[in-house]
Amino acid sequence: MPSREIINLQVGQAGNQVGEAFWKMLLAEHGLDYDGAYKGLDPLQLQRVGVYFSEVESSGVQRYVPRSAQIDLEAGVCNRIRSGPIGGLFRPDTFVTGDPGAGNNWAKGFYTEGAELIDPLLDTIRKQAEACDTLQGFQMIHSLGGGTGAGMGSLLLSKLREEYPDRMLATFSILPSPKVSETVVEPYNAMLSIHQLLDTSDLTICIDNEALYNITAGTLKIKSPTFPDLNELIAKVMCGVNTSLRFPGQLNGDLRKLGMNLIPFPRLHFLMPSYAPFYSSASQAYQGLSIPELTQALFDRKNLLVACDPRFGRYLTAATIFRGRVASREAEVAVHDLQTRNSQYFVEWIPDNVSVSLVSVPPVGQKLAATALSNSTAVQELFQRTLGTFSAMYKRGAFLHWYTGEGMDPMEFSEAESNTQDLIAEYQQYQEASVVDEEEYYEEEQ
Ligand code: GDP
Repeated sequence: MPSREIINLQVGQAGNQVGEAFWKMLLAEHGLDYDGAYKGLDPLQLQRVGVYFSEVESSGVQRYVPRSAQIDLEAGVCNRIRSGPIGGLFRPDTFVTGDPGAGNNWAKGFYTEGAELIDPLLDTIRKQAEACDTLQGFQMIHSLGGGTGAGMGSLLLSKLREEYPDRMLATFSILPSPKVSETVVEPYNAMLSIHQLLDTSDLTICIDNEALYNITAGTLKIKSPTFPDLNELIAKVMCGVNTSLRFPGQLNGDLRKLGMNLIPFPRLHFLMPSYAPFYSSASQAYQGLSIPELTQALFDRKNLLVACDPRFGRYLTAATIFRGRVASREAEVAVHDLQTRNSQYFVEWIPDNVSVSLVSVPPVGQKLAATALSNSTAVQELFQRTLGTFSAMYKRGAFLHWYTGEGMDPMEFSEAESNTQDLIAEYQQYQEASVVDEEEYYEEEQ
């Protein structure tokens, strides 16, 4: 069966650093070494390897090459990857870098520096897209708090939307956290990005540095978590989310189906990922988790990669993906029981709103693990947090000159602000909606 290909796009510092962790983990899962040569023993590893890798043969040696572009307006991180352990894995012409960087300024990424680099970048992507049999879509890894991943990432998404209107655009978007923050303008960059993502992305998996920080410092007991520590968690979750795209299994064989099951309203496509078990290497306590315990852990806010409390909202939908030797009946019963016990947190007007997928291949070094993607109205907390700081600064025009200096119209700030306010109101409306409201709504419509 031909693979339905995905093209990975890693943009900016965070995008590339997380991307590096992601590719390393993906190589291990598919039995590939750092040069992309197959060294594994399980035929399942190769069956759908073509989703993320293209197969090439040179001098009689078979290699698997990432279908990916590594993009940055400042070459430092990309150069580090190129000269690092997996540097030889990527096609050299898929690194697209500029100079001197976006200086944490969204406008430079979107309107000036980034715009200058966009055409050669689109050429690189087009070459890879044309070599695909059935491209299912793109995944972007980027942060929303800086200039390149946020600004140029948004520009790239809008261009891809124009050129590939019927392909899926999924993003792994890292939201800034005051705890891991580097610059004061991060809420501006994040809010301008969310404004764009609302229109251009089909499915955005939100990753919140604040939650990552809490998991690494709290659950994993790492004293001063570094970016590589945070990125390891993100890679785990990314590999968990796309497991059912990469290995044969039940349900959700592609990005579009995942989106169809999870996104009942197109604007409400901001998903919260969770993973279990997270445990520190010193602790073996979680090794023997039962399926009901694992399911419980998936819906525990401690294992959520977004610093929101699902108990303040309601789940519209969720997808659970179990990895390892798990009987489908057992997983379905565990999920059903959890939902019954917590029924007040799940909207009752979408039936069967929690899906269960199973993949027999566990993550490397673990026997059993699970990942979930939740579409919960509680995600509004994340937007409120960013909007609060954004509005406080914007009201006084603080730091606006950095953006207007790049030719940006301040109106775009107002639009981003009101678009996010609308989004929060929409989440709130569906949180409060009951079956009766929905019926009335349909009656009025008819
Ligand atoms: P860009 O290169 O202009 O896109 O800027 P960055 O990617 O450095 O964006 C800054 C934001 O990303 C801040 O919120 C940082 O805390 C966060 N960030 C930077 N590098 C990493 C990383 O490797 N991992 C994670 N999780 N966050 C990062």
